[in-house]
Amino acid sequence: MNNFQYARATDVADAVRQIAADPAAKFIAGGTNLIDLMKYEVERPPRLIDISRLPLNTVDETADGGLRIGALVLNTDLAYHPLIEKRYPLVSSAILAGASQQLRNMASTGGNLLQRTRCFYFYDVATPCNKREPGSGCSAIDGINRINAILGTSEACIATHPSDLCVALAALEAKVHVAGPAGERVIPFADFHRLPGSTPERDTNLEPNEIITAIELPAQGFAANYSYVKIRDRLSYAFALVSVAAALELDGGRIKEARLALGGVAHKPWRDPQAEQALRGQAADREAFARAADLLLRDARGFSHNAFKIDLARRAIVRTLTQAANGTPQIQSSKKIR
Ligand SMILES: Cc1cc2nc3c(=O)[nH]c(=O)nc-3n(C[C@H](O)[C@H](O)[C@H](O)COP(=O)(O)OP(=O)(O)OC[C@H]3O[C@@H](n4cnc5c(N)ncnc54)[C@H](O)[C@@H]3O)c2cc1C
Ligand code: SF4
Repeated sequence: MNNFQYARATDVADAVRQIAADPAAKFIAGGTNLIDLMKYEVERPPRLIDISRLPLNTVDETADGGLRIGALVLNTDLAYHPLIEKRYPLVSSAILAGASQQLRNMASTGGNLLQRTRCFYFYDVATPCNKREPGSGCSAIDGINRINAILGTSEACIATHPSDLCVALAALEAKVHVAGPAGERVIPFADFHRLPGSTPERDTNLEPNEIITAIELPAQGFAANYSYVKIRDRLSYAFALVSVAAALELDGGRIKEARLALGGVAHKPWRDPQAEQALRGQAADREAFARAADLLLRDARGFSHNAFKIDLARRAIVRTLTQAANGTPQIQSSKKIR
């Protein structure tokens, strides 16, 4: 591990001041991803700015009926927060499908959004990787790509975003509040993460000198008809091969509003307005769900080891929407651990 300096930020303004003075520095919150990356020498920040004690650890109601989640609310605290369990159970379910209890006890909400891909080659500094070292090439395209993307890929990178929480936040149309030297701004969740294109080294549209302060959830939480299904190699402590967040508003047996987001398949949580539009006004049945799945996956492209994801995603979408429509969401195995 390389030498680095360590400093603690006293408040958000101080954190912004410190990062603006040294853009190569990194914020550290729970450290569950950043410290691993430093040990592998994937990240070599000369300075860590500890933000873990900033007062961004509350969940507050907003004037328009939504919730504002501080960036430092821990994943465990968020998953079991009474307002989240009651009004946004999709968020709770997605968090509990991820990592392990110990990791969720350390991981922060903001850090979860900024965790980096789990592409094997990204962590292996002996191999070319455009995300780690721009211009060096992509080892996954002709290598072991079982866990890589099938949608929105580029010739430069086929990595996936590994977060579960982000898939739920995408479906719920959350907003990301950030602060930087130029002041505060709000980024719609759909615009927060990026597709790889020719700049895979950039995961998000957050500037290097900005800090995430909060996530805002709109009033509509889809608490009656939702489900989060995560397909993975092991039942815990594994990232998604494919995951689906589904949220429906039903009127009788018909779909009034539909939200559908996929994880494990792209460089960002994957949504498709056409697939959601195709569900609106339809009877909530298997045929409509299968049509939406086909639409959502119409541009999917498999590589040598991951073409199986296309059919897996199709079936997972139908299953998740069926569970949502029936009001029988997937129970996460870690739900009982408190
Ligand atoms: C073995 C293992 C299994 C896992 N499994 C899953 C899984 O199945 N699903 C899942 O979703 N996640 C999983 N995770 C990832 C885990 O959820 C993330 O590591 C965690 O959410 C990151 O949060 P953190 O606070 O520890 O971030 P840190 O490691 O502290 O930081 C991560 C990045 O975010 C930046 N950062 C942190 N907070 C802010 C902020 N407020 N503003 C600006 N920048 C910030 C840091 O500079 C750093 O670049 C797993 C992790 C491990 C180690
Ligand atoms: S898929 Fe992306 S992260 Fe993986 S090796 Fe290629 S460039 Fe690197």
